[in-house]
Amino acid sequence: MHKLMEYRSIFQDYPNVEIKSLKDVNIDINPEENGDSFHANSLIKALAAAQLTKEIVLADDSGLTIEELNGFPGINSSRFMHDVPYDVKCNTIIEMLRDKKNRRAQFHCVITVCNLLDKPLQFEGISHGIIDDKITGKSGFGYDPIFISLAKNKSFASLTEEEKNKVSHRALASQKLISYLKENKLI
Ligand code: IMP
Repeated sequence: MHKLMEYRSIFQDYPNVEIKSLKDVNIDINPEENGDSFHANSLIKALAAAQLTKEIVLADDSGLTIEELNGFPGINSSRFMHDVPYDVKCNTIIEMLRDKKNRRAQFHCVITVCNLLDKPLQFEGISHGIIDDKITGKSGFGYDPIFISLAKNKSFASLTEEEKNKVSHRALASQKLISYLKENKLI
C-alpha cells in the first residue's frame, strides 16, 4: 500500500495517468519471487500481473542493500524475519552493524513495465545512504527509519512524502520511466 501511495504521488502531475492496484481490479496474486536479482523478481511480478489483467502493468521490486553485510537483506528485504514488525527488523539491523565502520547502504528499485506483446521495459533507481545507529522519524515504511539519505542528510522516515518522492530509489526509477513516456509522447 505504501508503494502504491508513493507511485500515485510521483505521478500526480500527469492527470492522464491513472494507477490502479491489483486490489482495485479484484486480483489477488502472490507470485513466487524466486529470481536472484531485483530485475528478475520485478519481471516475475510484472509478467504474472500482465497475464491476468491483459493490461499494461508496472511492477516494482525493491529493497535495501548494506555494504558491510555483503548486500543483505537485498532481494530478501521484505522476507527478512518474516512477519515481525519493522521496528524489530530495524533494531536487528542496528545490532548487526554495532561498532561497524562501513555503514554505507543503498535502496534499489527496479520497475518493470510490460504488456505481454512487447519486450518488457526496466528502469532502475538507486538511492544512497548510511544506516543509522538509531531509529528516527515516523513517516514512510519498511527500513525508512534507519536509512539516512545522503541527498537529504535525514532518515527517509523523517522526510515528508513529497521530499522522499524526489530522492528515493522509487522516484529515481520513476523519473526514468517518465522520461521514456515523454520521449515516446505517451504522456
Ligand atoms: P518487495 O515488495 O518484494 O519489492 O519488497 C520490498 C521490501 O523492501 C519492502 O517490504 C521493504 O522491506 C523494503 N523497501 C523497499 N522500498 C522501501 C522504501 O522506500 N522504504 C523502506 N523500505 C523499503
